[in-house]
Amino acid sequence: MSMLAASRWPEVPVDALLVVPVGSTEQHGPHLPLDTDTRVAHAVAAAVVAASPGAVLGPALAYGASGEHQDFPGTVSFGADALGMVLVELGRSACRWAGRLLFVNGHGGNGSTLVQAVHVLRYEGREVAWWPCAVPEADAHAGRTETSLLLHLAPDTVREELAAAGNRRPMTELMPALRRGGVRSVSANGVLGDPSGASAVEGQALFGQLRARAQDAVTRWQPDSRGMLG
Ligand SMILES: [Zn+2]
Repeated sequence: MSMLAASRWPEVPVDALLVVPVGSTEQHGPHLPLDTDTRVAHAVAAAVVAASPGAVLGPALAYGASGEHQDFPGTVSFGADALGMVLVELGRSACRWAGRLLFVNGHGGNGSTLVQAVHVLRYEGREVAWWPCAVPEADAHAGRTETSLLLHLAPDTVREELAAAGNRRPMTELMPALRRGGVRSVSANGVLGDPSGASAVEGQALFGQLRARAQDAVTRWQPDSRGMLG
């Protein structure tokens, strides 16, 4: 697999497809690491690069827009405005040599900023798109879905004995309170959902689906009106 950080400049493919994982540094309950979203985005991005000729994997952007998690120690957030500027300038610079740029996003809270940043870059004539590592019917945060994924991708980082259910009400119900008071106002342990039942086997299956959908989307390369590959 071609890694940008380890490449000498003459090795960078002409008109490369640069794939950049976009994650977060934010609390993921008492049992998952702060870099959970970055790990998932990185793993999906690496799988896409490994399967795509002419693709190169860029270093991950390990901070995002995580203001809703700020009341928990360890969370470090750029916020949406700064993240948007970083994404736009990263794209302007990378597209001096890359033929295409794909952001693979691991944190839902970065989504609207990615839409705006990719819109600017595409308006300027650059071939840029993004793809969300979204699992259909997943629980929202540090629940069964993310715990299973991490048990598959990085089992040493998971403290299963500390896993506990958080607020299990659906996100649509929680959103108003979440916007007002942040995650801590609705979940004392930071979990939205329930990690019980999570397993490495389930994580392997979920990751396999993510990887297949991402690869399919990149092969077709048809950004929608939000700049997202579907
Ligand atoms: Zn997450």
